[in-house]
Amino acid sequence: MNIIDVKGLGLGFDLECGFRQALWDVSFSLEAGKTHALVGESGCGKTLSAMSILGLLPKRARITSGVINYGGANLLEYSNREMQKIRGKKIALIPQDPMTSLDPLFTIGDQLLEVIKIHQALRGVEAKKKAIEALEAVQIPCASARMQSYPHELSGGMKQRAIIAMALACNAEVLIADEPTTALDVTIQAQIMDLITKIKNERNTAVLLITHDLALVREYAEYVSVMYAGRIVESAPAKEFFKSPLHPYSKALLNSIPENRGKSLETIAGQPPSIQQDITGCRFHPRCKYAFEPCSQEVPASCEVRSGHLCACFLEK
Ligand code: SF4
Repeated sequence: MNIIDVKGLGLGFDLECGFRQALWDVSFSLEAGKTHALVGESGCGKTLSAMSILGLLPKRARITSGVINYGGANLLEYSNREMQKIRGKKIALIPQDPMTSLDPLFTIGDQLLEVIKIHQALRGVEAKKKAIEALEAVQIPCASARMQSYPHELSGGMKQRAIIAMALACNAEVLIADEPTTALDVTIQAQIMDLITKIKNERNTAVLLITHDLALVREYAEYVSVMYAGRIVESAPAKEFFKSPLHPYSKALLNSIPENRGKSLETIAGQPPSIQQDITGCRFHPRCKYAFEPCSQEVPASCEVRSGHLCACFLEK
């Protein structure tokens, strides 16, 4: 069952140099109990797409098209006040950097209790009990004592667990994990990803995993959408994607990860375009080694090449 459907999302920015489009026709779904990974290089629009769901966009951002269906309503039509009731309670964010996401002036308990008071309307002993339960659920040892700890007294992994506890305390149905392990060392990364997966399975939570790490995607995601320069260029069930990637950009990404032993690592020449660059046709064409006549003229439409496997490339038409 789909919890969230993002359909045809377009977004741009009003800059000094004029309006610049940053996302085109972004569509993906988040299903209960499944992880959908949004993959791509930095600046390709992954986080912008996720922040559109949360209604947390920069002031200069302007939605130009699309809908975000959630619970029979379009989230893009919600006021900020309406979104405040959903953020944290129904749709929670696990941010990239746990070091800067907690307030250093308040204890973990204070911050957790505040979330519970706002979204669960619990007070006193009941709220405290709920907070301790949430810390225990994310396997923080001596949860009751940890309520008194300040963020600087916790390791990076423990801080990330505390943030996940905030999402759990409100029983969020959707978790948006924005590069949740980037700031953590490798052993802790696996623990945090295992924890997110455990929560997803136990609570039937829909997870949006934003990452540039294909190894994480292979291990933890059921669906993959690859973004390039503001567009989704390929999407598929994860097993199908890793078995038979279609888009030249996806193939280049897969060939550039060290786990493809025995093969020399591929690099993708050039840089992703900035928002100021006008590129006609396929946005990947200046970097694509297969580019041919129509690629610089027309935008390739996304076509279903195999069941559930979509690709936007003229080679797959
Ligand atoms: Fe390459 Fe053309 Fe396909 Fe774009 S449409 S990925 S430029 S072959």
